[in-house]
Amino acid sequence: MKNIGFIGLGIMGKPMVFNLLKAGFSVFVLEKSASAEAVKLAGAQICSTTKLLASSVDMIITMLPDSPEVESMLFGEEGIAKEMRAGQCYLDMSTISPLVAKNIHCELAKIGVDALDAPVSGGQVGAEAATLSIMVGGSSEAFNKALPIFQAMGKNIVHIGEAGAGQITKACNQMIVGMTIQAVSEAFTLANQAGVDLEKMREVLLGGFAQSRILDLHGQRIIDRNFKPGFKIKLHHKDMNIALETGKALAVELMGTTQVAQQMKKAIELGNGELDHSSLVLLLEK
Ligand code: NAD
Repeated sequence: MKNIGFIGLGIMGKPMVFNLLKAGFSVFVLEKSASAEAVKLAGAQICSTTKLLASSVDMIITMLPDSPEVESMLFGEEGIAKEMRAGQCYLDMSTISPLVAKNIHCELAKIGVDALDAPVSGGQVGAEAATLSIMVGGSSEAFNKALPIFQAMGKNIVHIGEAGAGQITKACNQMIVGMTIQAVSEAFTLANQAGVDLEKMREVLLGGFAQSRILDLHGQRIIDRNFKPGFKIKLHHKDMNIALETGKALAVELMGTTQVAQQMKKAIELGNGELDHSSLVLLLEK
């Protein structure tokens, strides 16, 4: 597994490619990708078609926004699944529906391709520092083959279980992150209204039981009024909906997730969908 095709060079994908190149992998990307030139300068090879990309690599990784983009990249008119051969591996590191992930696993198994769902947590900072948490669903055999690749991009790498288990875990992660952003945003809005110094509040709370990476990083973003993404609120809203659909399928009521999803929807309607998810505070302030 030395030659890797990578599709989806956005906020996360681009630094992940840099880290794969740094670790000595040969990386192939599609010519039409937004950041193709930047990764080419760092040593990536450019392919003009999905056919050329699929024939050059042992493994294909996708890091795309959502289920429809991943499905169309695999099974659409110029889909890579048509070009893949038995013995290759497929890794989807995007955050998508667990049901779609399971279906991809079954469809690719029919042509002898082993698929893993391997969503990540740690954000842009983790992608750049190669410290992502990677939660993996699929066969142990494919996990062991992919492990050196994961190690080039992440630190906390766990094989959770069978196909779809990685995406279920990621949905749970997004519920916790979303509700924590809501908690931090509400607390900061209240403190601000009461005239309390937000920097001092953040400092003292970081030493107590309310400590979290969200209080740390997003608390600082709220103080600095820095809502450049990061993780776009529209993508987090997509993830809250994945959690809600999963809850519905399993008959688990998710009240907090429902409320935060509604607030994120409102933030998008206000025109803030492209801002960082910490910008939820703007809605609460309003
Ligand atoms: P992004 O919007 O920055 O990047 C997505 C990339 O996919 C873009 O380069 C876009 O051009 C490309 N793309 C979109 N549709 C395409 C298509 N049909 N064919 C080829 N390329 C296409 O998003 P991101 O923040 O990098 O997120 C990617 C995935 O990672 C999402 O599923 C997101 O939920 C997940 N994620 C993001 C973060 C984060 O902090 N940004 C953290 C963890 C997980």
